[in-house]
Amino acid sequence: MAPSVAIVGAGFGGMCMAIQLERAGIRSYTVYEKAGDLGGTWRDNSYPGAGCDIPSHLYSYSFEKYTSWTRRYPEQPEILAYLEHCADKYHVRRKIRFNTEVRRAVFDGAKWQVTTAGGTEAFDVVVMGVGQLNRPRLPDIPGMTEFEGVSFHSARWNHAHDLTGRRVAVIGNGSSAAQLIPRVAERAEHLHVFQRTPNWVIPKPDATFGPLTRLAFRHLPGLQRAYREWIYRYAETTLYPALAQGWSVRLLKQRALRHLRDQVPDPALRARLTPDYPPGCKRVVIDSTFYPALTRPNVSLVTDKIVRVTAKGIQTTEGTYEADTIVYATGFNSTEFLAPMEVVGGEGQSLEERWAGGAEAYLGISVPAFPNLFLLYGPNTNLGHNSIIFMIECQVDHVMACLPYLAVNGPIEVRPEVMAAWRRQLDAAMERMVWGAGCQSWYKTASGRITNNWPGPTTLYRRLTTRPPQPAYQPIGSPQPAQP
Ligand code: NAP
Repeated sequence: MAPSVAIVGAGFGGMCMAIQLERAGIRSYTVYEKAGDLGGTWRDNSYPGAGCDIPSHLYSYSFEKYTSWTRRYPEQPEILAYLEHCADKYHVRRKIRFNTEVRRAVFDGAKWQVTTAGGTEAFDVVVMGVGQLNRPRLPDIPGMTEFEGVSFHSARWNHAHDLTGRRVAVIGNGSSAAQLIPRVAERAEHLHVFQRTPNWVIPKPDATFGPLTRLAFRHLPGLQRAYREWIYRYAETTLYPALAQGWSVRLLKQRALRHLRDQVPDPALRARLTPDYPPGCKRVVIDSTFYPALTRPNVSLVTDKIVRVTAKGIQTTEGTYEADTIVYATGFNSTEFLAPMEVVGGEGQSLEERWAGGAEAYLGISVPAFPNLFLLYGPNTNLGHNSIIFMIECQVDHVMACLPYLAVNGPIEVRPEVMAAWRRQLDAAMERMVWGAGCQSWYKTASGRITNNWPGPTTLYRRLTTRPPQPAYQPIGSPQPAQP
């Protein structure tokens, strides 16, 4: 009999899992979704200008090539429409329980007891598809509650609040801020952008697909495949080596500096926008509209330190900036994977306890003593250079390969010694990556451990995740190897 599967989250990860179960003829699954719609991050991030800086043809499932993309880089509504299309085409929508947040998942020795506000249900397998960037992080700036205007986080955009003629402050200048600032600048009377650390920015060569190109993509599946493959290979062979501090580091830096020179004529402004850490240490911003927005007469870049939020605006070490709207483009709580869910494994330990020193999982998917629990887009599987959908598909394929093994043998877990070896390999690979090179980023914990990013090429990740479950996994209760 097919195992019963609880999938948590109806974003790209959870939907991919549900679709592959459907395609395999396994219908004994339920998708739990805390919100009223599917889409995950692409439902939550609806700020003006929201989109993806990975090209459309690669930012999609390999098994569901979309012929309707209207532009080279997809905008949020189009990505959401793609996910809706997938949900309908593969008949998974009927399996989603909306407005149902999973609060606890406890392994009782045989099954997972999954608890929501509506009660507890038992499943053989739990697949977590909650992503890494689902909990907006508001900064801890004194006085935030005293602000008399309207304020919100970029991932909780207040669409009822018209920005026309407003004096707006945007705090942050990461990928989200870079996308929304140009759109806000078009409407606001004045926009103050509060930058704590400059980012490296490279151009986004966006373009709409004309009718002929769209026709070609629609009727020549080989063209679509070749285009997708070309984008993927380019990212692997050119961008990845830059993050691994290899041959293309200089290329990436030169490209970013040229972009800055081309788009920002004022040398003083350019100086304030030039980072002092290596490119790629923080997520590189890919955008061609951010710098021009900063040169508009109604936009000013503020680089002095924020001291407090006041009733009427923002006070820094150098002055006071009036605002009636504050947008916090301040990122997400990214290193507390699965929080605030309580997940308790076979030995009565919670994942939170187990991960006190930083989250880790074999292949980013499995944790010893948490049998039949699988994570999608888990620890150390984020990318700085390629499509995360590729990684999610690798993970889902891996889970699919584990299902027959656990259906025959009962609950399986990754062997502790395999996990230990994985951690050593990961640590060794991490040493050559640029993320440790003296910058703060959402890739790491407060103590500096990089818990979010995958340090290898994605081709290697594909190879590792396609290995059969044995010998890395074992049925629970198997004898442990003798300690050396
Ligand atoms: P982020 O990259 O974490 O950026 C947060 C920004 O807020 C940073 O500029 C940060 O400054 C600033 N900040 C945080 N706390 C602050 C404080 N107390 N005072 C002043 N500034 C503060 O968040 P994000 O822009 O939402 O992006 C998160 C990730 O989402 C991206 O890296 C990317 O992976 C993904 N994303 C992708 C796309 C895409 O097109 N694919 C688009 C949007 C987002 P510091 O740099 O000094 O910390």
